[in-house]
Amino acid sequence: MSQENLKLAIQKKGRLTEKSLQILRNCGLDIDNYSDRLMISARNFPLDILFLRDDDIPEYVQDGVADIGILGENVVVEKKANIEIVKKLGFSRCELLIGVPENKTLNEVKDLNGKTIATSYPVITQKFLDDNKITAKIVEISGSVEITTSLGVSDCICDIVSTGNTLRMNKLKKSFPVFKSEAVLVASKSVELNSEKNQLLADLLKRISSALNAKHSKYIMMNSPKDSVEKVLQIIPSLKSPTVLSLADEKSVAIHAVIPSEKFWKIVDELKAAGASGILLLPIENMIL
Ligand code: ATP
Ligand code: MG
Repeated sequence: MSQENLKLAIQKKGRLTEKSLQILRNCGLDIDNYSDRLMISARNFPLDILFLRDDDIPEYVQDGVADIGILGENVVVEKKANIEIVKKLGFSRCELLIGVPENKTLNEVKDLNGKTIATSYPVITQKFLDDNKITAKIVEISGSVEITTSLGVSDCICDIVSTGNTLRMNKLKKSFPVFKSEAVLVASKSVELNSEKNQLLADLLKRISSALNAKHSKYIMMNSPKDSVEKVLQIIPSLKSPTVLSLADEKSVAIHAVIPSEKFWKIVDELKAAGASGILLLPIENMIL
């Protein structure tokens, strides 16, 4: 009997689509450009990818139509489906927050009492109000929430913001944070995977972890005079002990290490000052810890 493929649902067209495909490619999966197809299969891994609206992914995963899905944590919470987060994926980070007209001020969360809040996320907004013991009216709007205050439909909004540009364009300003979100991988809590699919999921998760680790790390190489090695090693924020190799020039050594990507620019001048030279920084494709 041929093995059944693991079915993964991702967003058909939107902010998550390219990044979801990219993370799968970083896992070594050979995936075609999808160009409007509803489903594609990876060539070198038993995985089918279904393209859906992100709002529909929770229910499809809950009911087992798809085994797993990638979507924003905000949609996971909003849709209240019987699904669980298996892995946080660290991309498409954004924040839901309360926005108010520039000429109005909310000093504290309590000032929301009695106000009308427009949002596409009534569940998350209501939870925020309940947590803060606030009574306010929620108006559910499916898009263009930002214009509702100028139309007199609402006093403030609760919407997703990343840069704040859309808020500014609509003469709104940020007030209180409500919910932080990132892309996550989810599975059903109602339907159990069979053992073959469980094995495939474990394999995929292992690859995703390795790809995420690699994305945040870089391989650094440099030469250092032997007398400066101790000083140079102290500067390197390496996960494990750096490798020190001898060189043909007996007065110098080569030092190799894996460091968190964001640390490079912070340490490069210190390394040079300590005597390091020929500093190279290389990307890492995969990292098995
Ligand atoms: P669909 O047609 O699939 O329903 P949509 O319009 O609901 O799409 P998008 O705007 O593509 O959704 O956003 C998808 C997800 O990306 C959001 O649920 C959220 O998790 C994340 N996201 C939304 N806006 C931003 C943003 N400005 N910056 C980063 N991530 C965002
Ligand atoms: Mg949607």
